[in-house]
Amino acid sequence: MTDIAVTLADKRGTLPAEDKLGFGKIFTDHMFAMDYVEGKGWHNARIVPYGDYDISPAAMVLHYGQAIFEGMKAFRTEDNRIVMYRPMDHLKRFNNSADILTIPRMDIDVVHAGLRQLVELEKHWVPKALGTSLYIRPFVISIDPYVGVKVAEQYTLFIILSPVGAYYASGFKPVKIKVEEHFARAVKGGLGEAKTPANYAASLKASEVAKEEGYTQVLWLDAIEKKYIEEVGTMNIFFKINDEIITPELDGSILNGITRRSVLQVAKSWGMKATERRISIAEVYEAHAKGQLQEVFGSGTAAVISPVGELSWKGKKITINNNQIGETSQKLFDYITGLQQGRVADKFGWVEE
Ligand code: PMP
Repeated sequence: MTDIAVTLADKRGTLPAEDKLGFGKIFTDHMFAMDYVEGKGWHNARIVPYGDYDISPAAMVLHYGQAIFEGMKAFRTEDNRIVMYRPMDHLKRFNNSADILTIPRMDIDVVHAGLRQLVELEKHWVPKALGTSLYIRPFVISIDPYVGVKVAEQYTLFIILSPVGAYYASGFKPVKIKVEEHFARAVKGGLGEAKTPANYAASLKASEVAKEEGYTQVLWLDAIEKKYIEEVGTMNIFFKINDEIITPELDGSILNGITRRSVLQVAKSWGMKATERRISIAEVYEAHAKGQLQEVFGSGTAAVISPVGELSWKGKKITINNNQIGETSQKLFDYITGLQQGRVADKFGWVEE
């Protein structure tokens, strides 16, 4: 077991009122960090005061984007325990992103130990109100001061923590989604399966245009044929057709969502048919025309489940389930948030105390 050196902050902040939290603007007093240098490997695991950090203006990450991140949550249960949702699965995905970005793999047992120690130290920052959580953001950046394109030899890993408010502060409501025909997020053989900044940079323009047009987010289609469905905004997507839930199969351009996995497993445990396969937007519209499209919803750490009430493709709008929250969307939302908040017994072993 690696020793984790701890340097405590002189000044401590306080958790703001739960309705003032918002998302990702407030950070706790400490962070976890670890360094990598070629030849020496990952070393110097430490917990230090949260604060600005010096890197060279020539740091490679600033020029070529060799970086990865994760996003997961810790919760305060009703009986006041602090739990994390599927942290090892998130850290395994972190290493998968590292492989794609040619970043050296981490010993995730060390990162996990550091994360646990950090959350324990900051547990008073985990809010209590329903829907609130402590958002956990691990990330790795390449820091060699070098402006040539190559694989870096020096990296820093950080874990920062941010108490966040309820995603559905104004209620669990269906959203309007634009099926994106012009812009592309990722291609097969590219970076789509990695949690890396480039994918998010690639999504900004399309999201802005969609918002100007009155939509909440875009539904991404495959980049080449613009035919097969990929993801929705920063969520995976599910369609309930004829009582079966269907989500696009993982093909290298889609993020392997932890909530996606949870939805598939939970639905199967209820005896529902839950399928991963290629699905085209034409098939979805056809199912709607035949009255077989029952629900559409996104899945992700931030919202857990986000019901879709309207889709617009090539100017043709369809309303799903009368713009009401579907039965399966509601049941999945209640079940997964129940697991996270300690109201539902954890038969899958996903909740770590
Ligand atoms: N797709 C993308 C592009 C994402 O950023 C996210 C959020 N991490 C997801 C899907 C959902 O993944 P998860 O359920 O692991 O949060």
